[in-house]
Amino acid sequence: MNGAKDRVRALLRPEVLALSAYATVDAQGYIKLDAMENPYPWPEAMVEEWLTRLRTAAPNRYPDPSCTRLKGALRAALGIPAEAGLLVGNGSDEIIQIILMAVAGSGGCVLAPEPTFVMYRQISTCLGLPFVGVPLREPDFSLDPDALGAALARHRPKVVFLAYPNNPTGNLFDEAAILRVLAEAPGLVVLDEAYAPYAGRSFLSRLPEFGNLLVMRTLSKLGLAGLRLGLVAGDPAWIEQLDKVRLPYNINVLTQISGEFALEKRAVLDAQVAQLVQHRQALREELSKFHAVHVYPSWANFLLFRLLCHDAERVYQELKAAGILVKNLHPVGGPLRQCMRVTVGTAEENRHFLLALRHILETQDPAHDS
Ligand SMILES: *Cc1c(COP(=O)(O)O)cnc(C)c1O
Repeated sequence: MNGAKDRVRALLRPEVLALSAYATVDAQGYIKLDAMENPYPWPEAMVEEWLTRLRTAAPNRYPDPSCTRLKGALRAALGIPAEAGLLVGNGSDEIIQIILMAVAGSGGCVLAPEPTFVMYRQISTCLGLPFVGVPLREPDFSLDPDALGAALARHRPKVVFLAYPNNPTGNLFDEAAILRVLAEAPGLVVLDEAYAPYAGRSFLSRLPEFGNLLVMRTLSKLGLAGLRLGLVAGDPAWIEQLDKVRLPYNINVLTQISGEFALEKRAVLDAQVAQLVQHRQALREELSKFHAVHVYPSWANFLLFRLLCHDAERVYQELKAAGILVKNLHPVGGPLRQCMRVTVGTAEENRHFLLALRHILETQDPAHDS
């Protein structure tokens, strides 16, 4: 290992050296409310049927590089317009990477309102693409159409990312503001609809109206985070080019079979989502009874809340000590100071979380007065 450190420093791009890896916590043994997973397992009979289907896989062969059957199932299940092109990725994270790889080196920049999903900035930075963050309005995290319009005119970004609903704030941007971005953006607008199952709103059906719009979806938040399956739909002229950037066998055979299977069982997943939407409502009502907490509206399967007089870092650590993992957003700073994000779990998990949080807020001294 002698001298590797110096060579690494000398060889790699400074942007890469300056990055920190996407942080995840070892969740073994915790009630895991930090990553927007669907907490419900599949019914036993469905698992059996799935395992039978997996027997048809041929692991010695490369998978279908164009994912023909899987794409057909996705088109039908999500209602992707027939005239739109479709590309699938190893999670929507890979789709973001594919889009940005296609524009990297063209001299342009990438723009998104912030705070938002961190991978837009992270992958841009990795690829040497300048990233412009435009602050969302406070206190409701809505889009600021004038600030965005000015930033679009000034920076002329190649790509604009809008998460709809937004992560980690949970809100759904105003439709008129999005239409204005679509009208004023000089390049691509990518609507990231990762939480569409929980929002019941989408621009998918409107794709044919906009030549500069791509809509991203993922099966992760629906309940298949382990599969790693995301997709992007849009005008075939875009998809055809993006497909050249995609690695030929990016969706493995097990994911192709499992994705198709899960979409056949869509009713099971939909019922789980409907349950979680109810839990979201209940959890929000309970959290809003806490005087020391402000909870934000959410169209996703998580809730953003702010600690009004306690220290987020200490509350986070005490929740962890009580066996509950949430996402502490305080280190991000700015408008997310003293904020945390909790994924909506099962009724049981939510109850544990609420009990632990109540106990912590009642026993911990208030630490800040912002
Ligand atoms: C979770 C999330 C993703 C990542 O989804 P994967 O398909 O699991 O890679 C993308 N965008 C947003 C806004 C997310 O919150």
